Amino acid sequence: MNYATIKNCDIANGPGVRVSLFVSGCTHRCPGCFNEVAWDFNYGEPFTQETVDTILNMLAPAHIKGLTLLGGEPFEPQNQPALVDMLHQIKGKYPQKSVWAFSGYLFDKDILPGHLGDPAITQEFLSYLDVLVDGRFVEEKKDLTLRFRGSSNQRIIDVPASLAAGEVILWQDWQGNGRGMKG
Ligand code: SF4
Repeated sequence: MNYATIKNCDIANGPGVRVSLFVSGCTHRCPGCFNEVAWDFNYGEPFTQETVDTILNMLAPAHIKGLTLLGGEPFEPQNQPALVDMLHQIKGKYPQKSVWAFSGYLFDKDILPGHLGDPAITQEFLSYLDVLVDGRFVEEKKDLTLRFRGSSNQRIIDVPASLAAGEVILWQDWQGNGRGMKG
């Protein structure tokens, strides 16, 4: 896997101050995509253990609330193994930090059925996620007033609650407490 950028002070892609990793490679090709250069799987730098160590160090300060994965497409089959390996290390070291991911794939129609590569890897990937913002960016539904989303079709999903319920439960922990809303 390659990655485009790492930000260590991102306040736009999840609650609180976060580290964000923009991976390379995306097959969705949404018109109006905010990050077209990252469609190419070879864009950017190779993602190595040194990169993981950098991210682990960036996550260390107490004011960093967690990690957000964006792209590109984190759920492309060729991107999942490296991300799962990194998340395993992060959750081992910082179990209290939240993990958010953005995907153009749909949680219930694309990701859960296990069509995206090795189902065991996808399952492990989901086990590390607190929130998934899913759905492609749709230019006609673009809304700059939306928090954490580019277009109104995208859903902010509470992943542990959805896995437990067997249906999509929307995240509503806007104040840092309470969770769960059927979607
Ligand atoms: S899923 Fe995201 S990165 Fe991929 S084309 Fe759509 S907006 Fe761009």
